Amino acid sequence: QRQSLVIANWKMNGSRHLVKQLAKTLRDAPEVLADVTVAVCPPAVLLAAWQSEVFYDQVHLGAQDVNENAAGAHTGEHSLDLVAEAGAEYVLVGHSERRQFYGDTEQRIQAKVAAALSASETKFKVVLCVGESEQEREAEQTMQVVQAQLESALQNVSSAQMAQVVVAYEPVWAIGTGKTASPAQAQEVHAFIRQWLQQKYDVAGTSVPLLYGGSVKAENAETLFAEADIDGGLIGGASLEPEAFLAICRAA
Ligand code: 13P
Repeated sequence: QRQSLVIANWKMNGSRHLVKQLAKTLRDAPEVLADVTVAVCPPAVLLAAWQSEVFYDQVHLGAQDVNENAAGAHTGEHSLDLVAEAGAEYVLVGHSERRQFYGDTEQRIQAKVAAALSASETKFKVVLCVGESEQEREAEQTMQVVQAQLESALQNVSSAQMAQVVVAYEPVWAIGTGKTASPAQAQEVHAFIRQWLQQKYDVAGTSVPLLYGGSVKAENAETLFAEADIDGGLIGGASLEPEAFLAICRAA
């Protein structure tokens, strides 16, 4: 049985004030945190503020991206060691915004996945984001696109390493648009991803949590999470509203 997992992706939003608000909301709902694994990926500069709030073990922290190099002359970037020191156990890799606007090619995504999985000090959980654009869906290329993204990013990843991998299906047309994939549309792609993972990794593929992301709200979370292969969500906009985010965690 896979553990339910809900991850907040704050993107370039939030503040120290919001850290305190969301931490308090979660802290006041220990029964939710007992059932669901919750992780928060704030902008990296807010990791330290989160670190001082999560004095208990139940809210995990993550980075929204990471550089594939260990250290060096990479102005503006963050290494795995730096985000680990700031408390991150999760890293998002290959978010569609990074693929579209910030130069994350398939090659860089593969390098980031490999670097995060081989970091020796911290056993990072890598959240690999995949998903098709609106044009690709209209051209009925969804499965090919998702498969190509999986094949490339996980090319050199072993079955043993898959214990550290989470896959998030985020159709680009559903991100920040208010257009959610229907539970059936999402489940169809999740089932495809599950099958691909099982074919490549056998039982190790069965255990990989699959998250849906794209306009998840308190109102639609429950029906999405009820689908067989949807193990939780990657939440953008609604993770900036503590009550909405808590309701989503409760639905998982
Ligand atoms: P929204 O929930 O704002 O659509 O964002 C989804 C997302 O991209 C999470 O990574």
